[in-house]
Amino acid sequence: MTDYYKQSLELLRTILLENHYDFWANWLSEDIEKWDKNRDTEHHIRAYGGMGSFNDIVIGNQDIVGLWQGAVFGQLQSLAYSLAKGENLNTIIERIGVNSTQISGWRCQNCATARLTNLDIERFLRDNTLPQIFIKLIKDNQLADILNIESIINNSEVQQKRVALEKLITETNIEISSDTTWLWSCPKCGSNETCTYRWNLLENGTTLIEASDNLPIK
Ligand SMILES: [Zn+2]
Repeated sequence: MTDYYKQSLELLRTILLENHYDFWANWLSEDIEKWDKNRDTEHHIRAYGGMGSFNDIVIGNQDIVGLWQGAVFGQLQSLAYSLAKGENLNTIIERIGVNSTQISGWRCQNCATARLTNLDIERFLRDNTLPQIFIKLIKDNQLADILNIESIINNSEVQQKRVALEKLITETNIEISSDTTWLWSCPKCGSNETCTYRWNLLENGTTLIEASDNLPIK
């Protein structure tokens, strides 16, 4: 049986080194040492909580690869922490296995113009697919592949979902923009009443519906 606690620490350390978080990379080296020697997880648990702690680290830039890498880091953190706390792997898998179906973007409350950026779409794809990808890699004993972000982003299932979603968004009369700057005023009607707006992708993947907790459109 794979030692997923140790493996998650090693993968976290790899990401930390890549992102020049040497202090935390060293911390994790110590975690691994203590685990190897005494099966001690207390030092790792101590990394969480409080100001400037291990869970405050930001991984990844505001680009597509960065979005995915940040989430992979979060998944690994959660795996390491839960295992350190003595939680059962199957229980952890059940908890992280929920894929989000909500996409969040921009809307004008005055004229109802709607816009999603490529990063909004990517964030959705990530939250919609990464939990299951993560679990599958654990089950296939290939968790180390989670560090190959490019291959996850370009895997055929994610790619198909991306194409289908972009088509659906366009059909729903939502504009897709590569410009990710927030629109404080509406380019169409000039109104300043703009807001964050959410849509839900229905299970069959062919319908986007407006979420019920949005601000009202005039
Ligand atoms: Zn408008």
